[in-house]
Amino acid sequence: MGFGNISRVRTLLSSLPYFFLFLLPNCIAIDTISTGQSITDGETLVSSGNIFELGFFSPGNSTNRYVGIWYKKTSYTQVVGVLNAMKPILDSHGSLSINNEGNLVILDGKQNVIWYTNASSMWSNTSTVAILDDMGNFALRDNHLNVSLWDSFDHPSNTLIPNMKLGGNDKLGISLRLTSWVSENNPAPGKFFLRRNRQEAQQVYIVSGSAATIVNGSNLVKHWNSGQWNGRSFIGIPEMPQDYINGITFSSDGNGGEYYTYSLSDTSNISLAVLLSSGNIETKNWDEQKKEWVVFWLAINSQCDAYGACGPFGVCNKMESFICSCMRGFQPKFPEKWRNGNWSDGCERSTPLQCGSGSEGFLKLEGIKLPDVSEYLLRTDENECKVRCLNNCSCLAYSFVSGAGCLVWTTELIDVQQYSSGGQDLYLRLPSSLLGANTSDLVKARESFSSSVQDVEDPEIQFSHVKLGEDQELQLFDFDSVKMATNNFSFCNKIGEGGFGIVYKGDLSSGQAIAVKRLSRTSGQGITEFKNEIMLISKLQHRNLVKLVGVCIEGEEKLLLYEYLSNKSLDKFLFDPTQRAELDWTTRFKIIEGVACGLLYLHRDSRLRVIHRDLKTSNILLDEQMNPKISDFGMARIFGVKQDLANTNRVVGTYGYMAPEYGLEGIFSEKSDVFSFGICLLEIVSGAKNSSFCHDEEHLSFLGYAWKLWNTGKGMQLIDQTIVDSCDPLEAMRCIHIGLLCAQDYAVDRPTMSKVVYMLSTETTDLTPPKMPLYIRDNKDYINLSSHGSDVNSINECSITAIESR
Ligand code: ATP
Repeated sequence: MGFGNISRVRTLLSSLPYFFLFLLPNCIAIDTISTGQSITDGETLVSSGNIFELGFFSPGNSTNRYVGIWYKKTSYTQVVGVLNAMKPILDSHGSLSINNEGNLVILDGKQNVIWYTNASSMWSNTSTVAILDDMGNFALRDNHLNVSLWDSFDHPSNTLIPNMKLGGNDKLGISLRLTSWVSENNPAPGKFFLRRNRQEAQQVYIVSGSAATIVNGSNLVKHWNSGQWNGRSFIGIPEMPQDYINGITFSSDGNGGEYYTYSLSDTSNISLAVLLSSGNIETKNWDEQKKEWVVFWLAINSQCDAYGACGPFGVCNKMESFICSCMRGFQPKFPEKWRNGNWSDGCERSTPLQCGSGSEGFLKLEGIKLPDVSEYLLRTDENECKVRCLNNCSCLAYSFVSGAGCLVWTTELIDVQQYSSGGQDLYLRLPSSLLGANTSDLVKARESFSSSVQDVEDPEIQFSHVKLGEDQELQLFDFDSVKMATNNFSFCNKIGEGGFGIVYKGDLSSGQAIAVKRLSRTSGQGITEFKNEIMLISKLQHRNLVKLVGVCIEGEEKLLLYEYLSNKSLDKFLFDPTQRAELDWTTRFKIIEGVACGLLYLHRDSRLRVIHRDLKTSNILLDEQMNPKISDFGMARIFGVKQDLANTNRVVGTYGYMAPEYGLEGIFSEKSDVFSFGICLLEIVSGAKNSSFCHDEEHLSFLGYAWKLWNTGKGMQLIDQTIVDSCDPLEAMRCIHIGLLCAQDYAVDRPTMSKVVYMLSTETTDLTPPKMPLYIRDNKDYINLSSHGSDVNSINECSITAIESR
């Protein structure tokens, strides 16, 4: 039955005496009950759009009955609201009705009142209705006065769904918080709460306490802290960038009320957050095909996420085997306990500050989850923030966070984490005697400060073995050993040549095969900066990035040593008439997914937020099992943004893969990489090379041709003939669709890599249609304009060709 029909039936029903109501066929869903009406155990209300359902359920393996609300598709695998959480019905003869006073009432089989709303007014007895709406809110309304008397959204259980609010209004005594269940068998209030803290108004915490303490907010124990709100996201949740698929918005009602609302960019998805009985939060999506929940985030996912894991002035790093360390200038308060892994007492200062002596400065700590309980200094810019902290002897640290402003700390620094990606810069006040850098600090503290603040860079730094972690380090090779490994850079060892120079195969004495990239020119950078960049880049480690094994710097020679990938680059297979058959559909899809994951890591998960700027099929290398690995990442960083090398197009990108805004105006962002990824994706699916694409009849560009086929329902024609029979058509069509979305002209229309990864992995996603490319045909004007930074040296009759310079 269609939506409209249900509405009409509902209107009809309202005029029928209640007596007839349940004699009607039970396929008719109703969303409303009125005064004098009821539903009994076994019957349900269903919201008008068939999205939510309300009825009786037993949680877990309990036999007790409760009235709850759940998504119709998920049934009560996840109940999102419970009416009588404190008091179950012990038999299966319960009912929910609106009594003569106009209150919602739950009665058991013996007509005992189990729960009621105590909300109606004396006028509302006959005109009261309760409606389950498509947002999942069950509302008791006085239709006569047109006012809401009671809303289930004002009484959250343990689950936050889109459009529900968290927060409150202290003046009006409103506090909307999630409360954990006692257990999964018992929805009665447990001991954990997810709530906004009154003092730190724009932070959210998991706390524990009693029902009494939660009301006045005292004596609560913190278990997790979201970090400050920067206007778009909580900065203590690095997985939550501003354009995260599922977002949170902060609003103020202008009357002292401040609320967070969870929202979904794709409202057809079912996605929610649950405060578990264990005191953790999980967010999960419903997979409609598999009919199961898929957890995609946990608030406390490592020991470091637990509030204050390393105590005051301790820093937690989950990547280290000994996760806690003291901030510089501090030492464990109780060394014995510390050594035994009991870190909660934290650290104390080992070298006193000398405030007023003029010999203090700040150490910059990068990629940090900022300490809890900061104070805000309003109306300050970054420089003033630093100066005001420096001039105030009780200021221990500061941070300037875009969107949040100047944060300063005057009490202990607690709940600090070192992230491997994301995070903020924290400036820790230290005596200048402690500001000389050692090797690892140099990476963290490269920024030079103004004269009032100490410079932390040590010009005397020696670059030999650079420690990267417990047992990884970037090796420094001497030139002679590289010469030996490559047979004196023999021509026979040459495996390729790119914009940075010749690439040789080499064999280390350990037996490891390597690829040696001999940089043909000096980068023009200072040697220290060059080394620093290499150190930073070598820290990027992901299964879909080519691993940097070592580096050799001697005189004018600069060589980068990479792991050797036996199948070389993707273009060698893809555009070779015989070799391309080795790439069946499964392999191609694996390559697409792998490249997407590698790029997402560069953009989002790595500490450096690297934009590749030259992603193309020749920069996608394949290992023995045809696993893809992105190469040349960080090259733009190593060589600097505007580096003027002879072969400039190698550094700034390759035409054909370059996003319009980058090719035309030199504007680059993560979204310009997304464009290049889209082109690669379309090349992988089609086996066609975009830069030498030829469509005789209509002079269409590669993108124009792909879009036209797609738009006329002929997307399958784009698929490489060698795989067209073996490929999964739905998967291949989804890839083309995603490729076209990525390669849209305007950066704002393109998805982020996190969304791309999500779309690739989700069969059910409804994708928006890709917009028509502005330059659907070959366009010489575009070529002329875009020759900036690229080596366009051939335009033939039917193709736009950015000839690679080899
Ligand atoms: P550009 O410099 O414009 O990015 P490119 O990617 O072709 O062009 P290089 O990255 O210098 O240039 O690589 C040249 C070729 O050397 C590659 O196409 C690949 O075939 C080979 N190659 C590079 N790195 C490796 C490696 N780690 N293992 C195996 N082969 C490699």
